[in-house]
Amino acid sequence: MRIEQDMKLDFKDVLIRPKRSTLTSRSEVDISRDFVFLHSQRKYHGIPIIAANMDATGTVEMARALARHELSVALHKHYEEAQILAFFAEQAGRRPGAFYSMGIMPPDYEKFRRVMDAANGAIENVCVDVANGYTKSFVSFILKLRANYPAITIMAGNVVTGEMTEELILDGVDIVKVGIGPGSVCTTRRMSGVGYPQLSAIIECADAAHGLRGLICADGGCTSPGDLAKAFGAGADFVMLGGMLAGHDECGSEIVEEDGVRKMRFYGMSSREAMNKYAGGVAEYRASEGKEVLLDYRGPVENTVQEILGGVRSACTYVGARKLRELSKCTTFIRVSQQLNEVFGQA
Ligand code: 5GP
Repeated sequence: MRIEQDMKLDFKDVLIRPKRSTLTSRSEVDISRDFVFLHSQRKYHGIPIIAANMDATGTVEMARALARHELSVALHKHYEEAQILAFFAEQAGRRPGAFYSMGIMPPDYEKFRRVMDAANGAIENVCVDVANGYTKSFVSFILKLRANYPAITIMAGNVVTGEMTEELILDGVDIVKVGIGPGSVCTTRRMSGVGYPQLSAIIECADAAHGLRGLICADGGCTSPGDLAKAFGAGADFVMLGGMLAGHDECGSEIVEEDGVRKMRFYGMSSREAMNKYAGGVAEYRASEGKEVLLDYRGPVENTVQEILGGVRSACTYVGARKLRELSKCTTFIRVSQQLNEVFGQA
């Protein structure tokens, strides 16, 4: 047994220090980014925020709403093939493109092959998603996928350490997805005791990825626009959001009333609820590592997107970053023991 003594940090442990700058208004800030992906060599242009491939947020409706602001979606993996094909045909040529999501089981790969064969090149980006990105079977899957599809952009994870980020990039991943346990409806840390504070995971994995010209997507744990600013400040190239985009019209969940208040269900993709829906219940050898919550219904996602983009722009203005690309160079984090004045509640 060994203990690492240096302190690992979460979003809540830091603030971004303001700096002198010549920027006078948020409108002078450009928060879009351009990338050329390392392996696929495809070009990306957009605002690098991605709706998570969860039932509530990885929807066709969310993709349409977010596309108006140049954000993208990782479609959840439970759509039928015909729906997926119709969606990607509708989206063809749109920048930034949506991600097709899959796990690493043989049926996932077979479905992907069939869809790719029928899609006429409309699917350019895939998200390979497993809870634990440290297994040999995950790495073998990535190698096989890259060998068979040299021109697709692969986002894959999740991992939280530099050495595994490097391994995945060397194996063919363009964007490594970072985060184990920080999610709003995730119970991995409670169930297994495993995890890594998200801000430190982003800093360490971004450093490892950028050294190899790869990219990372910070996945999970953002609870406010300021957390996205911190994720980008820490070096994230993309940020993936679940909970912050949940509870909206575009989530496709039904609205339920509780004590006269309109609510929407939101559940983790390895929660008991999801396993009951898709896998015929929780298998005996595994515990569920997600939960279900009932959120206040929040109407269309448009207002939330405006808030998020406004917050990230504001962060750039405070530190003098004219472009999102410059934000991490301009960021100095300060460690804090308290961030918010909550005398009137948390909003
Ligand atoms: P959020 O933005 O809600 O904090 O985090 C979203 C992320 O949580 C997702 O992209 C995914 O990586 C993770 N996640 C979603 N469902 C589950 C689950 O049931 N268990 C765990 N461990 N993580 C989940």
